[in-house]
This record gives sequence, structure tokens and C-alpha cells, in this order.
Amino acid sequence: MNYIIHYDIAAIIVTVVIGIHFYLKKNISTIQNRIFKVLLTVELMASIFDLVTVFTIRYPMCTTRLVHYILNVVYLAMFNLTPVVYFIYILKVIKKTASSSRKEKLLIIAPISIGELLIITSPIHGLIFHISQNREYIHGSLFWLLYVISLYYVGMSQYYTIKFRNFFSRGQVASVSCYTVFCFVIIIAQAIRPNLLMTQFAVSIAVLLIYFSLENPLNYEEKELGTYNKTAFEKVTLELIYSETPFQVLGMEIEGMRYITDALGVENANRLLKQFAELLLGLVDKEKVFFMGGYRFAILSERSGNWDTIISEIQERFSVPFLTDTVSVTMSAPMCVVAYPENAKRLADIMTLLDTGIVEANQIAGTPVVYANDELLKKGRREAEIVQIMKYALHEHKFEVYYQPIYSVEKKRYVSAEALIRLRHEEFGFISPEEFIPIAERNGLILEIGEFVFCEVCRFISEAHLLERGIEYIDVNLSVVQCMQSTLYMQLLEIMNRFRLPYHCINLEITETAAVMSQETLIENMDKLREYGINFSLDDYGTGFANTAAVVKYPFHTVKLDKSMIWSAMDDRKAMAALKYSIAMLKEMGMELIAEGVEEFRQAQLLEEMGCDFFQGYYYSRPVCGAEFLAKLAEMEKQGSI
Ligand code: C2E
Ligand code: CA
Ligand code: CA
Repeated sequence: MNYIIHYDIAAIIVTVVIGIHFYLKKNISTIQNRIFKVLLTVELMASIFDLVTVFTIRYPMCTTRLVHYILNVVYLAMFNLTPVVYFIYILKVIKKTASSSRKEKLLIIAPISIGELLIITSPIHGLIFHISQNREYIHGSLFWLLYVISLYYVGMSQYYTIKFRNFFSRGQVASVSCYTVFCFVIIIAQAIRPNLLMTQFAVSIAVLLIYFSLENPLNYEEKELGTYNKTAFEKVTLELIYSETPFQVLGMEIEGMRYITDALGVENANRLLKQFAELLLGLVDKEKVFFMGGYRFAILSERSGNWDTIISEIQERFSVPFLTDTVSVTMSAPMCVVAYPENAKRLADIMTLLDTGIVEANQIAGTPVVYANDELLKKGRREAEIVQIMKYALHEHKFEVYYQPIYSVEKKRYVSAEALIRLRHEEFGFISPEEFIPIAERNGLILEIGEFVFCEVCRFISEAHLLERGIEYIDVNLSVVQCMQSTLYMQLLEIMNRFRLPYHCINLEITETAAVMSQETLIENMDKLREYGINFSLDDYGTGFANTAAVVKYPFHTVKLDKSMIWSAMDDRKAMAALKYSIAMLKEMGMELIAEGVEEFRQAQLLEEMGCDFFQGYYYSRPVCGAEFLAKLAEMEKQGSI
């Protein structure tokens, strides 16, 4: 027979090129990955032996009959094996084998075993092939069975890919399906024209498709940082979980990077991130370091209790500033250790613990470590649930805006109100904004929530004609994350224009933390909005460290004295002095003052004597819904105080 060897040569070239690329790129070690290596090797061996046997068949006298037998057995055994390895690979992707039933296992093992047995014993019975006395190669009567076995495994791979398609991307399902069709055509063509030798080429194409769609090391790498990425982390941990291998994860975040990105630019932030990645890569092997997105990293270890040196090295590094060409910054790195299976048994819980643990560690000064426990998992799960509730509330308009009246000492009536968001859930009941706002800030939902509140407030001012009823403006709280958006002012102005509102009817409240975290962007936003006549209040005065600096630096019009400052002044002489002189100083600086948390008449009296301009608190009114607020205004009108 005149064999055409071009396809085999092409197959060898394709496989070798993939092999070189695969081995040069250091890969994460997973079972799936190791099976891919086997597939690569089997395919290469089969192609090489195919070529060798073509040669020996063409020149039968070049070697003995025994060598002929051995070469053909090896070739056919490899040829028979490739579609099975391909199938097992697909099964590994869908994590099927661990839970396979006996029947399924039989379906996987039986056909290949029969094929391999027939090939190996062929020199005895000649059913697959046979070498004649004059060393001529002859196909046996059951040779076709090998094609059937190949088609069987390709078909099964297709079946499982479609059945478990949610394990694959659409592109991957398409790759596998294209390959199935391609294989069927080629195997049938090969069965009709055995001299074409195309099957190895078909397999090499399969290897190529897998490489591009499922196995490409670039999918798992964070190139800029030289580490692996979150996808790789999930893949490796899932596998350890499937094989029930205990492991621990050290998660960490570079704290303050948001501020650094905002103040010093993305380039400087990336340089610092790279320095941190290098520090970790210097402490452990590359396979163990993962960049988890944002400013987070994770180190994976299959041995337990080995963190002390790593943690102390990280803490030591963070005790001195990080340097780039232009800046030197002191940062911290809150850390969290999670152990499988002690702390969590599922990947989702491990991720939740890392998230919550890092946030928790971040509340502690320095570069602290939090060790995961049941309490933390409970907290994390509640947070995750609150995120879902918030998403639902946004989608279904379940958030409400309440208004807490603000009383003017001078005018002796309500002149404004603070808009405060409310969230109620059938199962969870009332969820405090003190709980859900920080969660919304961490995962970005706050932007949508902030926009919702602002729209609602504008609608309320416009529909209830508040300005005509003696209300001069409504206070709206802005979150840190909103203040970091350079487009914030445009968004707010656009919403006010939509409701045709004069700009002075809104007053924005910002905390000191927000001001410090978003300096440049915030000043730009404030300047733009002030040009239009929107004023700003410094919220929570008296809770931070250097509120006065914020008053001096930013163009605030009003300062809101925090309720804790008022309350502690009532039963502590020193605190009273602090309050008194703070008020005097702020008035001297030309600020308007609001006292928050006024619950009793004597507090109001005292604050009035000290020079406060406005009061807000339960003594006047709790936050109420829009309708109730209007009712309060109507009552005031009736009493003639307007
Ligand atoms: P905040 O801006 O300091 O709001 C004042 C908080 O003090 C409100 O709590 C209000 O109900 C409460 N309060 C006012 N007077 C009294 C009083 O006399 N006694 C007591 N015990 N409490 C009083 P609330 O509504 O639970 O809000 C908590 C925090 O959640 C707010 O603190 C603010 O930081 C945040 N928040 C609320 N609504 C929004 C919003 O729409 N956007 C943003 N970004 N944050 C919001
Ligand atoms: Ca406020
Ligand atoms: Ca406040």
C-alpha cells in the first residue's frame, strides 16, 4: 500500500510545538494538567510510531518479523489509547471521575481494555493485524474495531461535554463539538482509505484545541506580576478539595492601595503591587502565589502551621516604606489564614472567609493576621446574603429613603432634612445602613445605591414642592467610593437637571475618611459642584483624628458635630470643654454648625447657648418616610411656625 505520510509529519510538528510552549511556560499542577501531559506524550508517541511502521512496512526486509510485531503493537496500542486519554481529560474538566458509578467506570474501561488486549495478543490470533512470513503487514478481520473504539470515545466526550456544558465556556463546547465532527469525518475517511494516515493529525488538532481553549497557561497567569491568577487558585483548590487533601491559604490585601492609586496614579500603584508580588515570590515557590484581583494575594500551602516565618517576613517588610521612583509610602497588609477542611469545606466558603477575614484584620492597626473560625464564616455568609438582598432591592425598588428633619435655631422651624436610606427584608427584618453601607462600599454596589438615593431625593423635592414649603435643602450622604469617581459631579448635576431643580436645594454630606481617601478627585468634584451652588457638610465631626485639617483643606460650608461628641459632653466635664471650644473654634472659622443626636431638651438648650445653628435628633424627630415628613411639615404650617 502506498502510504501518505504528510499528515503524520504535520501531527508531529503540531504536537512538538504545543509541547515546547507548554513546558516552557511553567504550569500550575492539577490532575487535569497532568492528563494533558499524558495526552501530549501519547499523541507524540503514536505519530512517531506511525511513521516508523510506515517505513518498516514499506521496507519489510529492514528488520526481523519480531521487531515488525513489536513496532506495530506499540503503534496500535498508542493509537487506540489517544481518544481514551482525550475522554478522561474531558471527564476531569467536569470533575466526573470521582463520583463515577461502577456502570460508568465499566463504560470507560471496557472498550479500551478489549482493544488493547486484542492488539497485544494480535501476534497470536491475527485478528487486528498480522505479519506474514515474508514480513508483509496485513490488516486482521477485526481491525475496524479500533475505529469503532475511537469513535466511541470521541462520541462519549461529546456527550459529556454537552451534558455538563456549564463546566465549559461556549467557545469550549464549540471547540469540542467541532472536533467531534472533524474526528468522525477523518476516522471514516481513514477507514475507507487506510493509506491516508490522517488519524494522528486529527488527534494533534484535538490537542491544539484543548491547549488553546482549556489548557493555555496564559489563562492562569498574571503576566505583569509573575504570579498565577484567581482562576488558577480556584482550579488548584477545587482539586485539593475533590481529593480531600488538607491545605491552608494565607490571604492578604495591600491596604491603602485605593488611596495610592487615586493620589499617585495607576503606574505607581502597579509598581508597588509588583514589589509586593516579588516579596511573596521570594518567600515561597511560584506555584503557591496567586494574585486574586484588586490588591489581593493568596499563598497556598499543603502543609499546615507553617506560616510564622512567612507572616513575620511580610510584617517586617511592611514596617518600612515602599519606594517607587518618585514616592515613598507606608502601607499595611491585613492577612487571614483559612484551613481546609477545618474552617470551610467548600471553595465558596473559603473565598468568603478570605474576604471577611481580610476586612476584619483591616480593622486592627498595623499588619495583623486573623485566623478563620466559625464566627467569621457566619459573618461572611451574612454579608454575602446582604449583598444578594441589596441587589434584589435595587432591582425591585425595595430600598426606601427616609427623612430626618433638621431644626433651625434662628428660624425656629425645620429648614431641611437628612435623607437616610432604609432596607427591610421579609426574613432579615430591618437591616441598618451602618451594616449594609460598608458592605456595599466594598463590592461597588454603593454607586448604584448612591444614585438611587439621589434620584429619590430629587424626585421628592420636586413632586412634594418642598422648596415652597419652607424646606431650603435636603442633606444627602456621599460615600467614599462615590467621592472617588471623577464623573460624580456630572452625574449629580444631570439628575438635578432632569428634575429641573435649583442647585442650592441639595447639600452633600461627606465624612473625613472620604475626604482623606479621595483627596484630588474629591476637591475637583467639590469645586465643580460649588460653582453651581451645591454646599457641603463635614459629617461625623469629632469621631476622626484631625477633623480640623479637613475643615481647613476642603471647601466645607457646614460641620455636623457627631452624636457621640454631644452625648459624651453630657456626662464628662473634659468632653464638655472639648465640645464647647470645638464649637467656638469652628464658628471662628466661619462654619455653620449642626448638632446631631439631640435627644433631650437640655442638650438642645446647651448647644444653643454654645452657638450651634441647627439641630437634628430624636428630640425633634426620628427619620420618617416621605409621607410622614410631609405630614410634619403640614402640622408646622398649621401651628403657624412657617
Ligand atoms: P450618619 O450620616 O451619621 O447619619 C445619622 C445617623 O444618626 C442616622 O442613622 C440617624 O438615624 C441617627 N440619628 C439621628 N439622630 C439620632 C438620635 O437622636 N439618636 C440616635 N440614637 N440616633 C440618631 P442611620 O439612619 O442608621 O444611618 C447610619 C449611617 O448610615 C449614617 O450615619 C450614614 O453614614 C449611613 N447612611 C445612611 N443613609 C445613607 C445614604 O443614603 N448614603 C450613604 N452613603 N450613607 C448612608
Ligand atoms: Ca450624615
Ligand atoms: Ca453623622
